[in-house]
Amino acid sequence: MMFHVSEEHLMDYAAGTASEPVSLLVATHLALCPECRARVADYERIGGAMLADSQPADLTDAALNAVLARLDEEPADLPAHKPAVRYDEQTRRILPEPLRSYLGDNLSALPWRNVTRSLQEIELPIGDSGYRTRLLRIKAGQAMPEHTHGGSEMTLVLAGGFSDDTGHYGRGDVSIADDELVHTPVADAGEDCICLAVTDAPLKLTGPVGRIINLFMRY
Ligand SMILES: [Zn+2]
Repeated sequence: MMFHVSEEHLMDYAAGTASEPVSLLVATHLALCPECRARVADYERIGGAMLADSQPADLTDAALNAVLARLDEEPADLPAHKPAVRYDEQTRRILPEPLRSYLGDNLSALPWRNVTRSLQEIELPIGDSGYRTRLLRIKAGQAMPEHTHGGSEMTLVLAGGFSDDTGHYGRGDVSIADDELVHTPVADAGEDCICLAVTDAPLKLTGPVGRIINLFMRY
């Protein structure tokens, strides 16, 4: 593997301070990358040692009461019970945990939406505003429409691969693009390229002209 998530994201992940979309992408990369797994284990060890050294802060009565009141609250509603999914061979091969359980269905059964003739996507319902989290499928051998980023984008390859000006990305690799990069990824021939992409929400233009521009800015 050549391309990893950033050191900063590994540290945030180890400290438990990464946002949910970033955590999902980092955790899925870790499933495929022993090198980054070892780094996270190191950070967790360092973090644990620092916690053990620090003095516990005294809880004020008010803070203590607030904590106790929380414990008395009813637990949040659990998601509706879904029958266990039997994942097919393709889904198990392409989607590592925790992403597989997060999506909760076979790849072929997921609600893919056609964006262009060569690109399909599924928007993941992650309730963390400021991010878009999508599964992308680029047809084998096809180029993605040229696009710039309204924010930074991390793209983790799960199947197939793609190339752009910055290199070739295969399964497990993470491409990191900032808002200045204009790139036209081209999927490898032979197998559709499936990726998990986490993007900082792009600037949304409003008004009739802005809405039309937004249509073109999405990719
Ligand atoms: Zn890595």
